Amino acid sequence: MDVAHVDVLVVGGGGAGLRAAIAAADTARDLRIGVISKVYPMRSHTVSAEGGAAAAIKPGDSPDEHAYDTMYTLYHPKWHRRPVSVWWWLERWCYARFVLRELTSLFIGFAAFVWLWLLRALAGGPETYAGFVAGMKTPLMLALHAVTLAAALFHAITWFHLTPRAAVIRIGGKRLPDGIVVGLNYCIWLAASFGVAWIWMRG
Ligand SMILES: Cc1cc2nc3c(=O)[nH]c(=O)nc-3n(C[C@H](O)[C@H](O)[C@H](O)COP(=O)(O)OP(=O)(O)OC[C@H]3O[C@@H](n4cnc5c(N)ncnc54)[C@H](O)[C@@H]3O)c2cc1C
Repeated sequence: MDVAHVDVLVVGGGGAGLRAAIAAADTARDLRIGVISKVYPMRSHTVSAEGGAAAAIKPGDSPDEHAYDTMYTLYHPKWHRRPVSVWWWLERWCYARFVLRELTSLFIGFAAFVWLWLLRALAGGPETYAGFVAGMKTPLMLALHAVTLAAALFHAITWFHLTPRAAVIRIGGKRLPDGIVVGLNYCIWLAASFGVAWIWMRG
């Protein structure tokens, strides 16, 4: 019989149990955490929540209103809901950072479009390419490229700092410290940048 040794054992593999396991992992990086479940975790009730697992997380929402909405029936009058501003995400830097990260994808899309445009210009011959280069030199294009660079840097840097949470790396059973995972990202980034610069400078 296999015997597993863990520091924290969570009973229940539904949303509550899995969230508790994440919270336990956040308290100490090297904890060994086990989750046991009577049914296969994907058969927990959490997976039946086809309306999306709802919770009171946004400004203007509250656990009371959430509980009421969950149990609402035609026989009870609906409580008044305070309207939430579309700018709610400006209230905290972590919300704004999340929305800004999502918006960076627009500029990454712009960069991809420019690459396709460049390929088309190259295929079109010297005159088409000269037109492309002239188009890239306009103040609007230069400004767009500057913003795109800033957006790409913001996306990359915020992503690097998210990586230790998204991918837990263990060596010999010990969790690699966050700083090392983030540092590795920067090293790979620097190496790739030097590689590109080297190819470019060789002409
Ligand atoms: C059909 C349906 C639709 C729903 N729709 C919604 C919705 O749209 N929106 C919403 O917000 N909520 C919805 N709910 C409610 C929501 O699913 C639950 O409130 C929520 O999932 C409860 O999460 P939980 O982790 O506490 O429990 P569960 O997800 O039920 O997990 C319980 C876990 O405990 C384990 N367990 C139980 N007994 C033992 C034992 N003796 N030993 C070991 N493990 C054990 C089980 O295997 C399971 O993994 C719905 C519920 C159902 C049934």
